[in-house]
Amino acid sequence: MEKGLLIVLSGPSGVGKGTVCAALRKRKPELIYSISATTRKPRQGEADGVNYFFKTKEEFQKMIQNNELLEWAEYVGNYYGTPIEFVKKTIDSGEDIILEIDVQGALKVKEKFPEAVYVFLVPPSIDELKNRIEGRGTETADNIKHRLSMAQEEIELLKHYDYAVVNDKIDNACSKIECIIVAEHCKRFRFIENKTKEGV
Ligand code: 5GP
Repeated sequence: MEKGLLIVLSGPSGVGKGTVCAALRKRKPELIYSISATTRKPRQGEADGVNYFFKTKEEFQKMIQNNELLEWAEYVGNYYGTPIEFVKKTIDSGEDIILEIDVQGALKVKEKFPEAVYVFLVPPSIDELKNRIEGRGTETADNIKHRLSMAQEEIELLKHYDYAVVNDKIDNACSKIECIIVAEHCKRFRFIENKTKEGV
């Protein structure tokens, strides 16, 4: 059976990863989304097991010790990580899964899964990024400052990715990601790998 794709969607905070994923979910309901664990407190409207698995620092540490996380990162004072079991099961069952994670985490995934598909969502400009983070109204002034200075550093890491998608309009970004998924399924090396496994 053909293995599913592991798609890593990353980029600076505020670039619109969550919004693009929500739109993709509607356009491509067959795509599976990984739910991360975090020690961050839920924002208004967020629910445990839907947006994140909300954990205490102690619970998160235990997940690290038990090797339950594919990767984890500390981001602006909180921990975020990807539960590994669900990712492995999904790919093995032939379904595509998308991880929406920060840039540090994406680079860690790359060490373990170099064959995954790495997509960097690029803000149209730093000013626009600032407007988006401020517009969310969920962060303190200090937190916004921190997220913006991280963003400048994170954009430098674009060179480690397979694709750069500018998030100017959500529909455009989604269309490009859908095209990337189709193209990746047609990559010669995936085809040969699967045929070899099938003994063809
Ligand atoms: P937020 O607090 O805005 O929900 O997320 C902060 C940052 O953490 C975002 O860039 C988000 O993509 C990232 N993030 C969410 N889940 C994970 C995860 O499992 N691992 C890593 N490394 N980053 C994550």
